Amino acid sequence: MRGTNQEFGRPYNRRIVLETVRLHAPISRGEIAKRVGLTVQTVSTIIRELEQRGFVLGSREQPRSRGYPPTALTINPAGGFAIGLHVTPVSIDAALIDLAGTVIGKKRRELRPATPEASFAAIAELTREMRSLRVNGRMLGVGMAIPGPFGVDSMSFVGPTTLQGWAGIPIAERLSEVTGLTGFVGVDLAAAALGERLYGAGRALRNFYYLYFGVGLGGCMVHDGQPLRGAFGNAGEIGHLPLVPDGDPCPCGNRGCLERYLSLDAFERRSGQIGREAWLAEAAPLLRVAIATVENLFDPETIILGGLAPEPVLKDLIAAASPLYNSVAGRRDRTQPRLMLSAQGEDSVLRGAAALAVSGLLSPRFGAMFVDDDALPAHDPLLAPQSPNEAAA
Ligand SMILES: [Zn+2]
Repeated sequence: MRGTNQEFGRPYNRRIVLETVRLHAPISRGEIAKRVGLTVQTVSTIIRELEQRGFVLGSREQPRSRGYPPTALTINPAGGFAIGLHVTPVSIDAALIDLAGTVIGKKRRELRPATPEASFAAIAELTREMRSLRVNGRMLGVGMAIPGPFGVDSMSFVGPTTLQGWAGIPIAERLSEVTGLTGFVGVDLAAAALGERLYGAGRALRNFYYLYFGVGLGGCMVHDGQPLRGAFGNAGEIGHLPLVPDGDPCPCGNRGCLERYLSLDAFERRSGQIGREAWLAEAAPLLRVAIATVENLFDPETIILGGLAPEPVLKDLIAAASPLYNSVAGRRDRTQPRLMLSAQGEDSVLRGAAALAVSGLLSPRFGAMFVDDDALPAHDPLLAPQSPNEAAA
């Protein structure tokens, strides 16, 4: 990420500085300047503005022997809030998340099936409840994570691991309409990977694979800090790898798809039929194949397993998958385990969903669309007051 003095201008530079603080806090003005290629003076001007608007906090350590240590800049957690929504085929989770990614409050509503009408009614209500937790907070937007893939006739909104009956619904529009907030929609597995990258173990890793154990099974390679999305945003449907020849028919039209055996849908279906231990014995060899496949294709530092499934189920799966197959991951100089459990539980999706909104509104890409402040839309959240009270004053 580099700032620029000519091409884009202020809205872009403001965002690139804020993004750098978000990703690398605590960080000094000098370090930001080095990272984004702007002068310390320009960075200082922008930081002053971001501090005044309540997005950034500066703290200075006690001076030691001589001179002052540089101010450590961090994100002001109360500088803004976003709502994260996770819609699955059987439930809706909502959470209010602050700028530091902390979950302020959350709530789940069971919905079987999660039809569009019932879902948007529940979303309107849940959003109202979440907003009431911080009535004076600067509400940035709402992000919603749903199962993919998008735009594939045979797979989108088809089968029990997708939102059946949602084809043709203008989801982002309806979301903005019922919540009164700027809405962003993303695939659940990518949102979960984003949550892990920003707030979980991914903060310390540049290259990792997030294996998302949801109602279906998905995955996302985070390469050099960025989720790999593919040409059409659908990279990650690892659950539809047809791994079992002549296996279970899958609603996608193939047989033996991985998520027919390895997913929350499969866990609930199969452990009901054959028992939990037999399911583990059936699923573990397939997880082993998936792990070796991912490792040989992407060479990640580690694979992080997370998602909707209860933690004991994921722990048992990891134990049952051992010993793993040999792959390019079998290095002596490894510093990370090959397969690890996400420490975030189900929150990674909700935090990632909220981050879709925060990043969508505050990211440099958004700023790059505008040359100067006069061209920005009137509702630009980065120029909005920190609280409605302040707006009234
Ligand atoms: Zn399939």
